[in-house]
Amino acid sequence: MPKLELLKKYAKLIVEVGANVQKDQLLVVRSSTDTNELARLIVEAGYNAGAKAVKVQWNDPYVSRSNFDGMSIETLEEVPPWTIDEAKYFVENNGCVISITSPVPGLNKGVDPTKMQRAGIAQMKAFKFYQDHMMGNHAQWTVVAAPNAVWAQKVFPELEENEAVEALWNAILDASRVTESNDPIMEWEEHNKRLLSHNEILNNYQFDTLHFKNSVGTDLTIKLVENHIWAGGGETSSKGVYFNPNIPTEENFTMPHKFGVNGKVVATIPLNYQGNLIENFWLEFKDGKVVDYGAEKQQETLKSLLEVDEGSKHLGEVALISYNSPINNTGILFYNTLFDENASCHLALGRAYPMNVEGGTSMTPEQLEAVGSNQSMGHSDFMFGSNDMQIEGTQKDGTKVLIFKDGDFVI
Ligand code: ZN
Ligand code: ZN
Repeated sequence: MPKLELLKKYAKLIVEVGANVQKDQLLVVRSSTDTNELARLIVEAGYNAGAKAVKVQWNDPYVSRSNFDGMSIETLEEVPPWTIDEAKYFVENNGCVISITSPVPGLNKGVDPTKMQRAGIAQMKAFKFYQDHMMGNHAQWTVVAAPNAVWAQKVFPELEENEAVEALWNAILDASRVTESNDPIMEWEEHNKRLLSHNEILNNYQFDTLHFKNSVGTDLTIKLVENHIWAGGGETSSKGVYFNPNIPTEENFTMPHKFGVNGKVVATIPLNYQGNLIENFWLEFKDGKVVDYGAEKQQETLKSLLEVDEGSKHLGEVALISYNSPINNTGILFYNTLFDENASCHLALGRAYPMNVEGGTSMTPEQLEAVGSNQSMGHSDFMFGSNDMQIEGTQKDGTKVLIFKDGDFVI
């Protein structure tokens, strides 16, 4: 474990810059039992920031695994009504949410994929109102990470358990811009400003299409929706509170047109989906839809990801990240999307973010559908950036602009 003072700095950053907890606001903390130390510090930081109440929702990945084994599909599909009431209470009382992710790699190996898929779909259906509320930014939310021993040893297999946990803590704190000597809150203000300036440049161009090409086999054209908005860094909730949905974050992202993606994309970092690692995979798109795909490992998992619903075969997000990002520079594969997605350019299969189109957060699902925004219960990011990625934008009048050369911004 790093020094307590360093962890307190991290907790304060999460509460004040991540969720930006307001005076007398309800704060919800979602934590694994593996990350109770950080959760306790966040609760304390939450009250220091003026929270009216802090509710912790504990989960235990090992209990979840036992449930998958021990329950029938029918039982797994039952969503207890009190858990829905709880989520309704959080929505009605303007709760902001801090989620600590701490995946246990390989834990769900061997679970019947149909069980995981059906349970996941039942959860997504039951909590759709909650997802719509949070993803529509009607309250502040943030996702952060903390290590567990299994995850740490997956990332640092050559180290003893304690050393591996310490090393993963250091990597997470570095990536989150928390050091012994700095003021992370001030540093995040600077970082947000840089991301904002790339958003502004890209928004002014209003590219019709982006063309991605590199030597590993990606040759993909993505049409962007009309009046798309590039976002990244901090966001403002519909109630006017500025917050950071992810710590760390390095991305500038926007909304692809649901029916406007053509060509092939080759992933460059494995994708961890429901505890399974999909490796060396590719997808072929025609008019926005995945028409062919392959993976060296866990092709079945990729198949079930694509078959969640109609929208899971279409893209909902395209994100640009310099290959020279601080996270990529660590050279560490974190086996965790929060970090790996900030290492390189990525796409997401599934639901689009309504805020990525003008007026999107106040549109009905039908209106969003009409502008080309993908609808799905899922949202899975995968990385395809490389050190030789080239991106060319084409404006409506046909003007071409080079955006990325050799994996980095040139605008
Ligand atoms: Zn993203
Ligand atoms: Zn995403």
